[in-house]
Amino acid sequence: MQSNFITQLLDLKGVKVTKISHEDSFVKIYITTDPKEHICPACGAKTSKIHDYREQTIKDLPFQFKHTYLVLRKRRYACSCGKRFYESYDFLPRYHRMTNRLAFFICQELTKLTSLTSVAKVANVSVSTVIRIFNHVNYGTPTLPKVLCIDEFKGNAETGKYQCILVDGENNKVLDIIPDRCQSDLVSYFRQFSRKERNKVKFFVCDMWQPYVDLAKVFFPNAIIVIDKYHFIRHVTWAIENVRKRIQKSMTATLRKYYKRSRKLILTRYHKLKDENKEAVDLMF
Ligand SMILES: [Zn+2]
Repeated sequence: MQSNFITQLLDLKGVKVTKISHEDSFVKIYITTDPKEHICPACGAKTSKIHDYREQTIKDLPFQFKHTYLVLRKRRYACSCGKRFYESYDFLPRYHRMTNRLAFFICQELTKLTSLTSVAKVANVSVSTVIRIFNHVNYGTPTLPKVLCIDEFKGNAETGKYQCILVDGENNKVLDIIPDRCQSDLVSYFRQFSRKERNKVKFFVCDMWQPYVDLAKVFFPNAIIVIDKYHFIRHVTWAIENVRKRIQKSMTATLRKYYKRSRKLILTRYHKLKDENKEAVDLMF
């Protein structure tokens, strides 16, 4: 009777609890199922002949804040045709090491504003498992905004070194993340949108990476392509640095030393400089 309640508490269809072992950091629940007639996957004949048993450890939802493992006594059947096969279970996808409900729990956790690492920790799985589950979740594509910004960042996805982020530039909202910034991925991503939807984009903001510009010309015919200020300024800064290094070479040793230490002088806006610094800059140009 008592074991029956424990079985109900576990709430897995057709599963019986045979033993529970509580450790400091985890709980192991030993389970089994009733034998039943199976259909041979090779020849289609019915068989009830048990060949042997094997134990499989499956991760389940945390129980009483402890990591929880189900230890399933798996039954292997033998058919008269010679085929041997394991029984199948509703709560466990074939070849999986976690219950369906744990996978669902991870999906729910992923909707919260939390890191993959902390989801992995709560669910007692690896970060790569969380990423794999995340990739299986179907999520809709966003609608396109008037101002579409694109940039890449170095993420930790297995799909590529750089991931692309799409942002609504007017409302400062992240629209989507694309797993890779390669052109073929971007093309297949933007092909999902109808022409009408794409025509809504009036400004396309990106860095100076040519594939983005090419992409915008093809997919967003109504958009003005804007190179965003950050990337523009960065290039200007690099250019100024090159000029500084060139001019410094022809300077006297004292002056050269001064400028070497005062790199920021050149990059500061003129009106923001102190008077003595203004003199120094004037001397240079
Ligand atoms: Zn068979």
